[in-house]
Amino acid sequence: MGCISKYYWVLRRANKEHKCSRCGVVIKPGELYVYHFGVGMGTNCRIIRRWWCLTCAKDEIEEMLKNNVRKLAGFYKYPAKGKMWQLPKSWREEILKQTPDIENENKQ
Ligand SMILES: [Zn+2]
Repeated sequence: MGCISKYYWVLRRANKEHKCSRCGVVIKPGELYVYHFGVGMGTNCRIIRRWWCLTCAKDEIEEMLKNNVRKLAGFYKYPAKGKMWQLPKSWREEILKQTPDIENENKQ
Protein backbone atom coordinates (compact mmCIF):
# COMPACT_ATOMS: atom_id res chain seq x y z
CA MET A 1 0.00 0.00 0.00
CA GLY A 2 1.41 3.29 -1.07
CA CYS A 3 4.98 4.29 -1.58
CA ILE A 4 7.21 7.25 -0.96
CA SER A 5 6.57 9.94 -3.53
CA LYS A 6 9.64 11.39 -5.09
CA TYR A 7 9.78 13.38 -8.28
CA TYR A 8 12.57 15.48 -9.59
CA TRP A 9 14.03 16.99 -12.72
CA VAL A 10 17.69 17.77 -12.82
CA LEU A 11 19.82 19.43 -15.46
CA ARG A 12 22.92 17.42 -16.17
CA ARG A 13 25.79 17.30 -18.55
CA ALA A 14 26.01 13.97 -20.33
CA ASN A 15 29.15 11.93 -19.76
CA LYS A 16 27.86 9.18 -22.01
CA GLU A 17 25.40 9.00 -24.84
CA HIS A 18 21.65 9.00 -24.11
CA LYS A 19 18.60 8.96 -26.28
CA CYS A 20 15.87 11.51 -25.59
CA SER A 21 12.89 9.64 -24.12
CA ARG A 22 10.48 11.88 -26.03
CA CYS A 23 11.84 12.65 -29.49
CA GLY A 24 14.61 10.07 -29.71
CA VAL A 25 17.34 12.55 -30.55
CA VAL A 26 20.82 11.47 -29.46
CA ILE A 27 22.18 13.38 -26.47
CA LYS A 28 25.92 13.36 -26.98
CA PRO A 29 28.56 13.36 -24.24
CA GLY A 30 29.16 16.94 -23.12
CA GLU A 31 25.64 18.13 -23.95
CA LEU A 32 23.13 19.33 -21.41
CA TYR A 33 19.98 17.29 -20.81
CA VAL A 34 17.26 16.92 -18.21
CA TYR A 35 17.05 13.74 -16.19
CA HIS A 36 13.68 12.96 -14.68
CA PHE A 37 13.13 10.53 -11.86
CA GLY A 38 9.70 9.80 -10.52
CA VAL A 39 8.02 7.34 -8.22
CA GLY A 40 4.80 7.69 -6.27
CA MET A 41 1.05 7.46 -6.48
CA GLY A 42 1.12 9.18 -9.85
CA THR A 43 3.15 6.33 -11.35
CA ASN A 44 1.51 3.48 -9.44
CA CYS A 45 4.72 3.24 -7.40
CA ARG A 46 6.72 2.31 -10.46
CA ILE A 47 10.06 4.00 -10.87
CA ILE A 48 10.23 6.18 -13.94
CA ARG A 49 13.48 7.47 -15.38
CA ARG A 50 13.59 9.74 -18.39
CA TRP A 51 16.28 11.48 -20.36
CA TRP A 52 15.11 14.57 -22.20
CA CYS A 53 16.86 16.87 -24.62
CA LEU A 54 16.60 20.59 -23.87
CA THR A 55 13.87 21.07 -26.47
CA CYS A 56 11.64 18.36 -25.02
CA ALA A 57 12.16 19.59 -21.46
CA LYS A 58 11.30 23.16 -22.40
CA ASP A 59 8.84 23.72 -19.53
CA GLU A 60 11.23 22.37 -16.92
CA ILE A 61 14.13 24.36 -18.37
CA GLU A 62 12.06 27.55 -18.29
CA GLU A 63 11.23 26.96 -14.63
CA MET A 64 14.91 26.34 -13.86
CA LEU A 65 15.97 29.54 -15.59
CA LYS A 66 13.32 31.52 -13.72
CA ASN A 67 14.50 30.26 -10.34
CA ASN A 68 18.16 29.97 -11.23
CA VAL A 69 18.35 26.34 -10.13
CA ARG A 70 19.24 23.18 -11.94
CA LYS A 71 16.96 20.89 -10.00
CA LEU A 72 13.20 20.89 -9.61
CA ALA A 73 11.60 18.65 -7.04
CA GLY A 74 8.00 17.65 -6.48
CA PHE A 75 5.72 19.52 -8.79
CA TYR A 76 7.67 22.44 -10.14
CA LYS A 77 9.14 23.29 -6.78
CA TYR A 78 12.82 23.86 -6.44
CA PRO A 79 15.05 23.18 -3.46
CA ALA A 80 15.09 26.29 -1.30
CA LYS A 81 18.49 25.73 0.23
CA GLY A 82 21.88 24.70 -0.98
CA LYS A 83 24.08 26.37 -3.49
CA MET A 84 24.90 23.05 -5.12
CA TRP A 85 21.70 23.29 -7.14
CA GLN A 86 22.30 26.77 -8.44
CA LEU A 87 22.32 26.99 -12.19
CA PRO A 88 25.87 27.73 -13.35
CA LYS A 89 25.97 30.89 -15.43
CA SER A 90 27.75 29.16 -18.30
CA TRP A 91 25.02 26.51 -18.44
CA ARG A 92 22.40 29.24 -18.51
CA GLU A 93 24.08 30.91 -21.45
CA GLU A 94 24.42 27.59 -23.23
CA ILE A 95 20.72 26.85 -22.80
CA LEU A 96 19.70 30.28 -24.03
CA LYS A 97 21.91 29.85 -27.05
CA GLN A 98 20.26 26.54 -27.87
CA THR A 99 16.72 27.63 -27.14
CA PRO A 100 16.55 31.36 -27.89
CA ASP A 101 12.74 31.42 -27.66
CA ILE A 102 12.92 30.74 -23.91
CA GLU A 103 14.93 33.91 -23.42
CA ASN A 104 12.27 35.96 -25.19
CA GLU A 105 9.45 34.42 -23.19
CA ASN A 106 11.21 35.20 -19.93
CA LYS A 107 11.51 38.86 -20.88
CA GLN A 108 7.77 39.31 -21.34
ZN1 LIG B 1 13.88 15.37 -27.23
